[in-house]
Amino acid sequence: MCLFCEIIAGNIPSTKVYENDKVYCFNDINPAAPTHVLVVPKKHFDDIRDMASSEEGREYMGEVIKAIDEVAKIRGLDNGFRVINNCGPDGGQTVMHAHYHVIGGVKLTEKMI
Ligand code: AMP
Ligand code: ZN
Repeated sequence: MCLFCEIIAGNIPSTKVYENDKVYCFNDINPAAPTHVLVVPKKHFDDIRDMASSEEGREYMGEVIKAIDEVAKIRGLDNGFRVINNCGPDGGQTVMHAHYHVIGGVKLTEKMI
């Protein structure tokens, strides 16, 4: 099993922020901001391309979007936040289980785009 599958299975500890039957959301171990939550589909997909390639993956993507909204509400990110997906080696992905970084709780100034 990959690292995030192990976390979802409860074999590696994590700090849960939100969970439903399709998505698990937990604090990043190396936070880039006061809020840095990883939103992770409970089914293993390698990356966003893998999620896009099947009807089931696209359904999970819809669940991811809803979970991002839940996390933002739970964390009180009413003034905005950033969502980041690193895809593949050139995108800087280090854990090869698709996930979405929700970052906020401060005005984010360092913008690449
Ligand atoms: P990425 O580089 O986009 O693949 O993101 C992987 C993220 O997983 C990084 O921000 C890491 O800090 C985070 N991470 C790695 N191991 C753990 C862990 N055991 N618990 C929580 N977050 C982790
Ligand atoms: Zn996995």
